[in-house]
Amino acid sequence: MSDLLERLRGRGWRLTSQRRVVAEVLDGEHVHLTADEVHARAAERLPEISRATVYNTLGELVTLGEVIEVSTDGRAKRYDPNAHRPHQHLICTGCGAIRDVHPLGDPLAALPAEQRFGFAVSQAEVTYRGLCPDCAGCSG
Ligand SMILES: [Zn+2]
Ligand SMILES: [Zn+2]
Repeated sequence: MSDLLERLRGRGWRLTSQRRVVAEVLDGEHVHLTADEVHARAAERLPEISRATVYNTLGELVTLGEVIEVSTDGRAKRYDPNAHRPHQHLICTGCGAIRDVHPLGDPLAALPAEQRFGFAVSQAEVTYRGLCPDCAGCSG
């Protein structure tokens, strides 16, 4: 059974067949899908599922805090079920593959006090970019 599904069951989230399919599509490690990708994959399992249902379900999952929205490239938002363990992203500039990573040290703590300008800083986002082994191999 998937971790996300387990979490949702634990919270008593009403699992209709449509919601279940969305949660199943999002299950796993290093999952970062756009809403359209979630819809395409959900429709493979449940052809009648509408885009609106997928979008609504994603919105609910985000509100519940079980899925986070990630904007890695300024384009489409991606949905990430790894919502309970703070992490950063490693992105391939060739194919767009995304991995969840945990840098040593806390990026939040890395900002010196004199550069906080009096802000109550609560979040830090770091994106690492480069070529994945597959893409590095292609280019020779
Ligand atoms: Zn790549
Ligand atoms: Zn992630």
